[in-house]
Amino acid sequence: MKNYTPPKKLFKIGESATMKAAEKARELRAKGVDVISLDVGEPDFPTPKPIIESAYKALNEGLTKYSQSQGLLELREAISNNLRENFRIEYLPNEIVVTTGAKMGIFYALTALLDEGDEVIIPTPAWPSYFDIAKFVGAVPVQVRTGENFELLPEDIEESITNRTKALLLNYPNNPAGVLYDKRTLENVAEIVERKELWVVSDEIYCRLVYDGEFTPFSKINRMKDRTIIVNGFSKAYSMTGWRLGYICGPKDVVKEILKVQQQTTTHPPTFIQKAAVTALNECESYVRGMVNEFKIRRDIFYNGLRRMGFKIQKPQGAFYFFPNAEDVYSEAEKFSEHLLEKAGVNTTPGSSFGMGYEKHFRISYATSREKIEEAISRMEKFLKT
Ligand code: PMP
Ligand code: GLU
Repeated sequence: MKNYTPPKKLFKIGESATMKAAEKARELRAKGVDVISLDVGEPDFPTPKPIIESAYKALNEGLTKYSQSQGLLELREAISNNLRENFRIEYLPNEIVVTTGAKMGIFYALTALLDEGDEVIIPTPAWPSYFDIAKFVGAVPVQVRTGENFELLPEDIEESITNRTKALLLNYPNNPAGVLYDKRTLENVAEIVERKELWVVSDEIYCRLVYDGEFTPFSKINRMKDRTIIVNGFSKAYSMTGWRLGYICGPKDVVKEILKVQQQTTTHPPTFIQKAAVTALNECESYVRGMVNEFKIRRDIFYNGLRRMGFKIQKPQGAFYFFPNAEDVYSEAEKFSEHLLEKAGVNTTPGSSFGMGYEKHFRISYATSREKIEEAISRMEKFLKT
């Protein structure tokens, strides 16, 4: 058999840490091990029925052909209306590109903004794929740690800016810490962004999953719309992870370049899925609210459990994650995630993949049923006692 040596650009990236963690639980379960998954960030709710029915209907009606590469106009109009209604921001359909998941949106945004060797600042802890996607497009991800409670530190961001810095990547509510940034902090960041002439990629995929406080889109902050590319998607708010659908919004000249990349890669996401997403936006608000209410209850149950165990965490305001420091309760903190899986059958994601200096943390995803959460808490408590 011929030896295969991957090209150098592939040496720079690794497997997706979150997908890998989920795979581990799946493998153990296939061997008959009783594992509770608190790993992948995937809502356990079924996709709302009207979305599924809309996809069936679209298939039966022949929406099985190419659509506009930018995405169905009807969907881009629905996105535009949805952003106006929920957040009072204005994006015209020609400032939107429908993408194959938010992940592809991140890839497009970084591809469109960054030249070889350009730096992108990523406040950490952060979703691991940002680092790999940045490297894959030839850029340099620059990690900047957030504060003790994962708050953004504008001064630290400013200090990390060099003459190669092109962009700042924000994500709030945040994966893995669940923090939401307040308007004041965002204004301080915006002031730096403007002064240093940076771009901002704002990953707003958790914007509907907010339990306390208010979400402010970054493009709504003073003069930021011209410098911001919003990345968003249907995976989280509509429980549509497997449908692979997202979108980006941004200034027209950037959108034009992103569209070129889409035309030369995926062409567009499947047409009938785009049609189903119109139903998601126009008819499924009550489902979103129902899921948000349930996530809030789960967050509170888990928060109380974690506090009882001795974790000194703050209550996350959004998304569906906790990012505790195992050092609060466990002497071999760096091995906590591994030991918890081995000894208690509870699978979490190790903190090391979310940025440098987070080796003692671990991520819990509470996008699972209350019963499983109660069981996970009781297993964790028992594990910590022994
Ligand atoms: N951004 C963040 C912060 C995420 O956590 C994820 C994955 N859950 C994504 C983007 C990618 O989502 P999608 O399924 O739409 O590709
Ligand atoms: N982003 C989700 C997570 O953080 C899903 C996995 C992925 O796309 O990386 O678990």
